[in-house]
Amino acid sequence: MAGEARSDCLFCKIAVGEVPATVVRETETTIAFRDINPQAPTHVLVIPKAHHPDAAALAAAEPQIAADVLREAQAVAAEEGAESYRIVFNTGAGAGQTVFHAHAHVLGGRGLQWPPG
Ligand code: IMP
Repeated sequence: MAGEARSDCLFCKIAVGEVPATVVRETETTIAFRDINPQAPTHVLVIPKAHHPDAAALAAAEPQIAADVLREAQAVAAEEGAESYRIVFNTGAGAGQTVFHAHAHVLGGRGLQWPPG
């Protein structure tokens, strides 16, 4: 069922502390941790603790938690001192999504090009 932890999901395991991560912020509904393969000086992932396969599914099922993720992404950028930053939700394998648990990438600390690849 949407929202329930999945034993085969890496980010569900990070959400419960079963897989270690460098956590930078946590709320009742979200957790933010550093990406293991950073693409910028600031590269933090913000996830809902509940399992949803991607951002679109999260927004449809739990719009309030989707808003929590966005608020936390902004809070991460502020804490990291990133004046300009990018929030990315890769949605679908064709867009580069590799972990199918909704997550926002927060990227900052360097100039970012547009359009992305
Ligand atoms: P996606 O490609 O948009 O799905 O993003 C998945 C992100 O998760 C990638 O940027 C990975 O580097 C990151 N990642 C994968 N495994 C871990 C981990 O164990 N800890 C932190 N980040 C991870």
